[in-house]
Amino acid sequence: MSQTPSSLPARWTAESPAGTLPLTRMDAFQKPSEFVRTRENEIRINEIFYSLQGESSRVGLPTVFVRLTGCPLRCGYCDTAYAFHEGKTRQIDDVLSEVASYDARHVCVTGGEPLAQKTCLTLLTKLCDAGYSASLETSGALDVSAVDARVSRIVDIKTPGSGEVARNHWANLDILNAHDEIKFVITSAADYEWARNKLKQRRLHERCPVLFSPAFGELDYADLAAWVLRDRLPVRMQVQLHKVIWGERRGV
Ligand code: SF4
Repeated sequence: MSQTPSSLPARWTAESPAGTLPLTRMDAFQKPSEFVRTRENEIRINEIFYSLQGESSRVGLPTVFVRLTGCPLRCGYCDTAYAFHEGKTRQIDDVLSEVASYDARHVCVTGGEPLAQKTCLTLLTKLCDAGYSASLETSGALDVSAVDARVSRIVDIKTPGSGEVARNHWANLDILNAHDEIKFVITSAADYEWARNKLKQRRLHERCPVLFSPAFGELDYADLAAWVLRDRLPVRMQVQLHKVIWGERRGV
């Protein structure tokens, strides 16, 4: 964390919308622990809910979301700070039973940073074994190589505007394949230029689909759309569908 009180992103101090929890100065400056420890068959869960997938190539699909507790990053635009610490330790088989109760085909394991818990790998494998189409949303700061090959890995590349660009685990990009996805959350024109350069230098679009997503409330959708079209970028621009439908709130 390199942020100082005078350079805190607006979100750290802003009033939160209904249904969300505000990020606090304590969240901003508390040193986040790298991993969340649990026993072998346990996992710490922030929330489980059923909604429409709001992002990625799976956008719009009815999906069960399993949000894990903990994250070692502190992105300035984070909309899930309530998952940094809040949660309940549960048996993985109990989590699978709750997922099954929704009678859904798609399951998204998210956070926080799900890979901050080692048993996330077990959960993902059990979801695949049970026949679900599973995806993992990860910050891109931790190694994704041990994730079950049946899982679609949605890997962020943190931009400078996130405040966490130094955390990118670049080696991840070498092991992604066509059923994975790379996501840039873009906060400004400078972030866009940076992301466009990374895309071109590393030819990321030849490896897997690449998503460009405006940081909610920080970058105008139309600006990002215009830049992507102007530069003929081989990416998918996305907006967060769940926020368009329901606003910025928990459990959707
Ligand atoms: S990696 Fe995700 S959960 Fe963690 S601080 Fe960044 S946006 Fe929030």
